[in-house]
Amino acid sequence: MFIYDLDQSSLGQLLRSWGEPAYRARQIWQGLYQHFYNSPSQFSNLPKSLRDKMATELDFIGIEPIRYLDSSDKQTRKTLFKLNDGHVIEAVLMRYDRRRTLCISSQAGCAMGCVFCATGQMGFKRHLSSGEIVAQVMYYARMLHGEEQTVTNIVVMGMGEPFHNYDNTMAAIDRLNDSEGFNFGARRFTISTVGLVPMIKRFADEKRQVNLAISLHAADDDLRVSMLPVNKKYNTEEVLEACRYYVAQTGRRITFEWALINGVNDTPEQARKLAARLKGLLCHVNAIPLNPTKGYKGQATTRERGIKFKEPLEQAGIPCTIRMRRGVDIAAGCGQLAGSFL
Ligand code: SAH
Ligand code: SF4
Repeated sequence: MFIYDLDQSSLGQLLRSWGEPAYRARQIWQGLYQHFYNSPSQFSNLPKSLRDKMATELDFIGIEPIRYLDSSDKQTRKTLFKLNDGHVIEAVLMRYDRRRTLCISSQAGCAMGCVFCATGQMGFKRHLSSGEIVAQVMYYARMLHGEEQTVTNIVVMGMGEPFHNYDNTMAAIDRLNDSEGFNFGARRFTISTVGLVPMIKRFADEKRQVNLAISLHAADDDLRVSMLPVNKKYNTEEVLEACRYYVAQTGRRITFEWALINGVNDTPEQARKLAARLKGLLCHVNAIPLNPTKGYKGQATTRERGIKFKEPLEQAGIPCTIRMRRGVDIAAGCGQLAGSFL
């Protein structure tokens, strides 16, 4: 059993079944999530017999870091992890200003097939367990701890579609959020979805404090379906309707993501359509010049076209930022994670 797959109560149950007193579960929980221990031998406050039992009964590795790459400016690190069944995933640390943002994966591969995304191009391998999601965070938290730093933000924007693996993703967030453990504030998480409407509604009903981002990328069905095949199932209007529902239910601002592709979705017409559709909604547009991937020929927008794209949005009172690309030299940018380490 993988240690990070256990929540506090199932760890308690397991320890009870081993005949251990309740406080042992608390000690282990704190060791894992407050001291970042990742091997039974580090739990020096536990009797040797219990440490031995943990070593034989529990898996402390689960995801094994096998390679990493640092960007040339050293601000971005991408790590490749091997899962128990041989599949690989990637997670990225971005250091800018005082932020230490982790971008983590929710699946090995992705079933959604977005044409410009390297993860989509590789197809779906499998869902990650909650522990495999948690372990990516603990790996980097441990590394930063050694540098007297901490994780400040977590974005579920790596490989995979988190709303396709909803329960495990939310269980991972809840585990990291536990105030007696890692205690990572819900508001410092952002989860990004390609637009799985029923799950957006469920997320809204659960009134979670986690930030929500929606990969929109196009302002009408004709264009959106050519980029995101999932738009056949949930069209643009249905996605936007679910977004309005989310904002109404939670009072929280929603982020729309837009990979700017030269001559495709960076036209004044798309910008005007987008502004008209979003007008009045509590939202923000996060645009990012397309990152290159092997399977897609489109090019990133130019700076001038990016600036023009913002104009109609800002006139309609919709904030729009054009983000800097990060980690592109190590293929760690948005949509570039495919476990291939070029
Ligand atoms: N599956 C989720 C989260 C992972 S992708 C989703 O799609 O929202 C994180 C973001 O990167 C998404 O907005 C996605 O559309 C975007 N993206 C994918 N490929 C990209 C590329 N080549 N360049 C820029 N952004 C890309
Ligand atoms: Fe999957 Fe998101 Fe990539 Fe689309 S953009 S293929 S949903 S990871």
